[in-house]
Amino acid sequence: MTRIQIAMDKLSSKQRSWLMSRVKGKDTVPEKVVRSLLHNLGYRFRLHRKDLPGSPDMVLPKYNTAIFVHGCFWHRHKGCPKTTMPTANYEYWEKKFSENIDRDTRKERELRQLGWRIIIVWQCETATKRLGLLADRLKAELKLEQVSRNTEQSSNLKPIT
Ligand SMILES: [Zn+2]
Repeated sequence: MTRIQIAMDKLSSKQRSWLMSRVKGKDTVPEKVVRSLLHNLGYRFRLHRKDLPGSPDMVLPKYNTAIFVHGCFWHRHKGCPKTTMPTANYEYWEKKFSENIDRDTRKERELRQLGWRIIIVWQCETATKRLGLLADRLKAELKLEQVSRNTEQSSNLKPIT
């Protein structure tokens, strides 16, 4: 075989999953960025709730909201320049990516069924020059949740007769 294989190919499956866990693991830079952003905006949150499907990167109990910070490449951010397709081992990657997407979809569905709202933050949104936009988006989405909760609560009130 003369074709040049990418490095990933030379790794055992054990090494490969180690490498993946390093790349996708906790405390990635984008996750830290989102954490400090939320903190600066004054939101309270908890990290990696293991008892919830997909153990979301952050949860904001007050807002009933779980946040995932997704790497664009691994989680296939649509239309993003980081979402490249490796040319070598095409089948391996295609399978890997579709498994990732299926897993994400499943976890999100499970969380929604438990009554959680979900916010996905993409890695590319955590770039310093885009942080203002991200802050606006998070504030808007969390405000929306609060409004819908308040409406729900007030609709439960008995009308004054
Ligand atoms: Zn992206």
